[in-house]
Amino acid sequence: MQAIVKQKRAPGLTVTSVPKPSPGPGEVLIAVRHAGVCGTDVHIADWNAWAEGRIKPPVVVGHEFAGEIVAVGGAVSELKSGQLVTAEGHIVCGHCLQCRTGNSHICRNTRIIGVDRDGAFAEYIAMPATNVLPLDGIPTTVGAVMDPMGNAFHTVLSAEIPGSTVLVVGCGPIGCFAVGIARAAGAAKVIASDVNATRLELARRMGAHVTVNAATDDVVRAVLDETAGEGTDVVCEMSGVPSALHQA
Ligand SMILES: [Zn+2]
Ligand SMILES: [Zn+2]
Repeated sequence: MQAIVKQKRAPGLTVTSVPKPSPGPGEVLIAVRHAGVCGTDVHIADWNAWAEGRIKPPVVVGHEFAGEIVAVGGAVSELKSGQLVTAEGHIVCGHCLQCRTGNSHICRNTRIIGVDRDGAFAEYIAMPATNVLPLDGIPTTVGAVMDPMGNAFHTVLSAEIPGSTVLVVGCGPIGCFAVGIARAAGAAKVIASDVNATRLELARRMGAHVTVNAATDDVVRAVLDETAGEGTDVVCEMSGVPSALHQA
């Protein structure tokens, strides 16, 4: 099958032929229909310091995807061929202390698809059935963004949102998701900041009541003006920029 592969310990990615995986016990084989490009994929392509320390080529990259189950391995009863699905890309061990105490999201043995093992920028990917989520009518174009959108859900809903004022700092894809999620969860006012006018326009379309361009305006001043001098109840820092973290 064709796949996008990190072949060498150097910048670049290669489209090439690799063996088609087959589903082992407890796994399903998924024909990938749509995939998303994450900043992580760009880091792997550029071969930055993080990638150099983490990636062991050759590896098929990509971890955001959705597709159709085309084969089912042994001991899988809850999924069947023909189902449209997406999948959680963190494969955990299931038997370390963290996994056994309900904290598998911090499993020390986590292997991420497209990072630590072969990923989704390929015609097919084999995944543990326990990581697979049926889309139940959601199109694969939308299902493919489950991973970054899940990140935004987890972040936003860790706070008390209904009736709150919310500041979203950074309007990349996850920040824009956070704006929509805060609105859907019942925020009284959502303020979004970024240095990029196009991203602020996207944030407005996602439901931000107020947008602030941090390149030209004082974000702290603007937020105080919009909240009767109180500041927002919730701040979601979605930019990773040190100065924005300080503002938050
Ligand atoms: Zn990602
Ligand atoms: Zn574990």
